[in-house]
Amino acid sequence: MTTQCRVDVKAGTITCPAGQVESFEPGQVVQFDPEVCGACALRAQCTHAASGRGRSVRLGEDEGL
Ligand code: SF4
Repeated sequence: MTTQCRVDVKAGTITCPAGQVESFEPGQVVQFDPEVCGACALRAQCTHAASGRGRSVRLGEDEGL
């Protein structure tokens, strides 16, 4: 399974491989919910975030290009 997130620039949302959805603004760092990430079976392949933290993803200012 891929650990890439899906970005919907039009909707301004990013969806992680397990289906967790966060909204974002271009140039922002998105933090996924640490509680959801902590219990996620994909965590080991998905993120190196410290215990108690969720995956973070930086979106480019030009993400829509
Ligand atoms: S660790 Fe977090 S970001 Fe990664 S797949 Fe699981 S819920 Fe999604």
